[in-house]
Amino acid sequence: MTRSRSPVPESGLRSLVLEGIAGSVGYAIAAAVVVDVRRHGVVRRHVPKRAVDDEMARFDEAVALAASELRAAEERSRSRSVKAESSILQAYILMVEDDMLRAEVERRIRIDLLCAEWAISAATEEMAQQMRQGSDPYLAERSHDIEFIGDRLLGALTGRSSAFTIPTDRPPGILVARDLSPAETVGLTRDRVLAIVTEAGTRTSHTSILARALEIPAVVGVSGLLEKVGNGDVLAVDGVHGRVVVNPFPTLISEYEDRAKRHSDMAKARHKQRDRPVVTRCGVAVDLRANIELPIEAELALGQGARGIGLYRTEFLYVDRGQPPTEDEHYEVYRRVIEAVTPLQVTLRTFDIGGDKFVSALQVPPDMNPALGLRAVRLALARPEIFMTQLRGMIRASAHGSMRIMIPMIASLGELRAVRSLFERAMSEVDQKGYPRAAHVPLGMMVEVPSAALMADEFAREAEFFSIGTNDLVQYALAVDRSSPELAYLSSFFEPSVLRMIAAVVQAGRRHDRTVALCGAMASDPLAAVLLVGLGLRELSMEASAIAPVREAIGAVSLAEAEHAAKEALFSLTALDVERLLTERFGERIAVE
Ligand code: PEP
Ligand code: MG
Repeated sequence: MTRSRSPVPESGLRSLVLEGIAGSVGYAIAAAVVVDVRRHGVVRRHVPKRAVDDEMARFDEAVALAASELRAAEERSRSRSVKAESSILQAYILMVEDDMLRAEVERRIRIDLLCAEWAISAATEEMAQQMRQGSDPYLAERSHDIEFIGDRLLGALTGRSSAFTIPTDRPPGILVARDLSPAETVGLTRDRVLAIVTEAGTRTSHTSILARALEIPAVVGVSGLLEKVGNGDVLAVDGVHGRVVVNPFPTLISEYEDRAKRHSDMAKARHKQRDRPVVTRCGVAVDLRANIELPIEAELALGQGARGIGLYRTEFLYVDRGQPPTEDEHYEVYRRVIEAVTPLQVTLRTFDIGGDKFVSALQVPPDMNPALGLRAVRLALARPEIFMTQLRGMIRASAHGSMRIMIPMIASLGELRAVRSLFERAMSEVDQKGYPRAAHVPLGMMVEVPSAALMADEFAREAEFFSIGTNDLVQYALAVDRSSPELAYLSSFFEPSVLRMIAAVVQAGRRHDRTVALCGAMASDPLAAVLLVGLGLRELSMEASAIAPVREAIGAVSLAEAEHAAKEALFSLTALDVERLLTERFGERIAVE
């Protein structure tokens, strides 16, 4: 194996920096324990027609065995009280036993006359491939789950298990793998595994979610990892910036040891603070909530101090399936999240699909300008039957705790009115069927299109609450594609034009006595969060790991200081001026990792 290492052989080995995605914050330095769980080799054999029933029987046995192994793993994880892990395993059990998968395999066995191994591998590979086709990170991520399920079934057919155990006879190390599934991580503890580094994965992959649940630093999505790292290589893992240094120099080793110690001291201190109310230095309360994408993240978020869910992105429900979810499926998922979070509130956002977010269940036609195309509420209004199914599921879930419904990408009052009329119809359909529901279900909107910000006063008369989506607001206000790395330098939420729109929306909300929240990535930035408090926001929703640093930042300043800085920021000329102003004013008090 060739290793592409850069020079400076101070310790006899060359140092190499690998870039990946920050999956779970924290630092660690230790030797690599490489667990190369590769996909099982697949037997490819045609079978005679008379053997197809036997092959189907082999498949059914494999399903039963894989499901029972997963159930055992799920029970073990429940006994360790890692809820996120056990929920993922439950989802895997459903996937292994899924009727659609069975139908795909059966077709290949009965019609194409493939042996069970080949049929499983072909069916799961095709399903995974379809999910990877679009640029949607959810789909790409779920494709790993399908591959994993295929692997488990092949393992069950051949009597091999794809689970592994972390060696207990060695000092704690850094787990290096192609990918990790919950079944493989059962038994993984912080005293044995100091960090996780994987070749596959994204921020929302199960490895990242579990690592965050277990508070183990993780870097995922490191391409070529297994060719570059061998057993015993010393790794310095930076789970804050998504970086891994292989065989670092002695100076860097001591720097990482310091960082790891500082980080774990800080994490312990933050842990103690998590149930305290978030207040400015002068005692003004700010509500910090979490953005989630998967239902299992809800509990994780509460553990990190979230006071409710400010944005539940429901797109995940439509991913990797042939048909959109049924009303009952919607209801069950939302009910579980609401029950987990109650008595705190959950904000359910209706689907924001379309444009470049390819979702097989909805067959959205390609657009020339996806961000400006048939997306979010536009798609909802174009496919009212799919939208109504989701609305009814949401309304039924309102019987189980505090919740509100939020509509993405509203650009005109006409759209909001069209949504309200469908919403009212959905309410009466729920009533006609005799399902219980909350007496009142608040219907609000995201403010993420400049036209809505400019007409905030008029919208505030008809929408029951606002949540500002700065990710899209910046994209549309500055005409900068939010996914373009080349244009990232133009895409700043500190642009005074964006700040003025936020201020206008807050003012309109106040005039009409409407709650105004903000749920874009801007809320996760500690300096920006202080600025937002100064602009008048009292409810911010962010990724759960940002709650602790944002809480500290808000606690470090008084409202008068934040308001003063906000006033100056509104009259600044560039984003850079605003950043400079905030850094000069608060930089020393606000720790930025
Ligand atoms: C936003 O646009 O700021 C937002 C929170 O929504 P999303 O990132 O899902 O588009
Ligand atoms: Mg948005």
